[in-house]
Amino acid sequence: MKTIGMLGGMSAASTQIYYRELCRLTSERLGGLHSPELLIRSLDFAGIEALQAVGNWDKAGDILNAEALALERGGAEFLILATNTMHKLVGRMMQGVSIPLLHIADATAAAVRSRELRRPGLIATAFTMEQPFYLDRLIAAGLDPIVPEATDRTDAHRIIYEELCRGVKTPESKARFVAIAARLVERGADGVILGCTEVGMLLNQGNVSVPVFDTTLIHCEAALDFAGVTND
Ligand code: GLU
Repeated sequence: MKTIGMLGGMSAASTQIYYRELCRLTSERLGGLHSPELLIRSLDFAGIEALQAVGNWDKAGDILNAEALALERGGAEFLILATNTMHKLVGRMMQGVSIPLLHIADATAAAVRSRELRRPGLIATAFTMEQPFYLDRLIAAGLDPIVPEATDRTDAHRIIYEELCRGVKTPESKARFVAIAARLVERGADGVILGCTEVGMLLNQGNVSVPVFDTTLIHCEAALDFAGVTND
């Protein structure tokens, strides 16, 4: 199997889910004592969030680039960036890197299309819902995504940074996310993309009425496919 290089810590709560799911899925696929070959570089999210908040994307991109190069030097054979939002910076991140990146939006779009759906709702950080880097990628893959209304976007963003990224789950925020997803469905969403790697802490197929696409789980499955962790 290929060695996965995971650039995470954005947030640490998300990276824990990735590691748990990569291990669970590898065991499910291969059985026995099998576990994934991987390198994890987990950044201190406080510093990254501070750069996001002031819009210093250049500096954040330089950090991701240095870490991607380090993962390659360390023996990673391909990379996953374990956050949707920071895919905004993959152009800069991959400069001078010769191993491939498995893009989270591409894996997600393929999962949506495989269910023959076209109009997914997208619940994510404000950066991901409001800037073109992610929506354009979904559109280029043939989808017609919709995002929540402004108040819902603000609430989702706040809950992600103030609670989920700190490992906090509350019934109130879960109800809020369930309502946000329901409003997307009312507006015509035929699926819901959990476009932030922590949102699966609150939403899942049990509380959304249309197919749910959890980017964390989809990304983990795609990474293991690419790594050659298959039981056939
Ligand atoms: N993990 C989140 C995402 O998937 C948000 C935290 C970040 O800004 O990286 O977008």
